[in-house]
Amino acid sequence: MIIVMKLGVEQSQVQETIDRIKELGFNTHLSQGQNRTIIGIVGDVSSIDESEVERLRATPYIEEVVRVSKPYKLVSRDFNKEDTVIKVNGIEIGGKKIVVMAGPCSVENKDQILNIAREVKKSGATLLRGGAFKPRTSPKDFQGLGEEGLKFLLEAKEETGLPIVTEVMDTRDVELVSEYADILQVGTRNMQNYALLKELGKIDKPVLLKRGMWATLKEFLGAAEYILAGGNQNVMLCERGIRTFSDFTRNTLDLSIVPVLKAESHLPVIVDPSHGTGRRDIVKPMALAAIACGADGLTVEAHTNPQKAISDADQTISTADLHSLMGEIKYISRMFGRDI
Ligand code: PEP
Ligand code: MN
Repeated sequence: MIIVMKLGVEQSQVQETIDRIKELGFNTHLSQGQNRTIIGIVGDVSSIDESEVERLRATPYIEEVVRVSKPYKLVSRDFNKEDTVIKVNGIEIGGKKIVVMAGPCSVENKDQILNIAREVKKSGATLLRGGAFKPRTSPKDFQGLGEEGLKFLLEAKEETGLPIVTEVMDTRDVELVSEYADILQVGTRNMQNYALLKELGKIDKPVLLKRGMWATLKEFLGAAEYILAGGNQNVMLCERGIRTFSDFTRNTLDLSIVPVLKAESHLPVIVDPSHGTGRRDIVKPMALAAIACGADGLTVEAHTNPQKAISDADQTISTADLHSLMGEIKYISRMFGRDI
């Protein structure tokens, strides 16, 4: 249930409302936007009877009381009408500007990530991505450099100023990864790792939550809800392709979810055309289409020598192609009232 306060409500009235809810035995979640103050009631509110709801509705400084039947509340537009804008080292994600996270699938060695980071910087992309902990289909495949990889990412950040996005796969690594990363990525395979999501709810670093390759809209937003319910409001939703019968791509990039996510949720939406297609030849058109349908940013795998990439070579574009992609992103962003 959410309580929308009237415009110009006083702090004491907000507190009075919170106290009333607490007396009913519930915790609250406060969202104070520029224009609106909204109080969310946390927990199973079915025990709150209609007469109590009517009393709340009749309160002069309360605009409306809405029973939200959706399984997600904190992530929903009902709860926060304004777009959430996440600030990372001076970069705003979810604002007017389109953000581009670019870099290799895996951090392979120091020279590789430094060279790629320099090119990413020159291209005008805003963040550096790269995996140090890699979720691989076979245990025999390269599993990532672990903490050494995080150190290389940090060196690349120190030299270029690009903030770092990197994956965390295990609850035991959340503390370590958050020491290095500016944004922690949850990969597709871990979208429903609720223990991990709960840990990420406790930190204050932003989280890039990738959609499970099987996940419905409800499951995806439910996963994000776990992180927000834990107290971390800084979550980005990332569409990265889903499994379908289609056999010409690795995954089917479900761009139709982008405008739906923007309507259903206030969180920024990022699109990954690399994992979403598995094919470097179609990364560019899908990246541009993602901006056209309302995404707030992209995450793109790029490498100075894509053919030699240890992981996901087939979908990795060259840093030269990243440069030209950035030019086209700039063009299309402006067409849709955005900027880069
Ligand atoms: C990645 O970003 O390198 C990655 C492993 O992504 P996903 O979890 O979407 O497969
Ligand atoms: Mn990858």
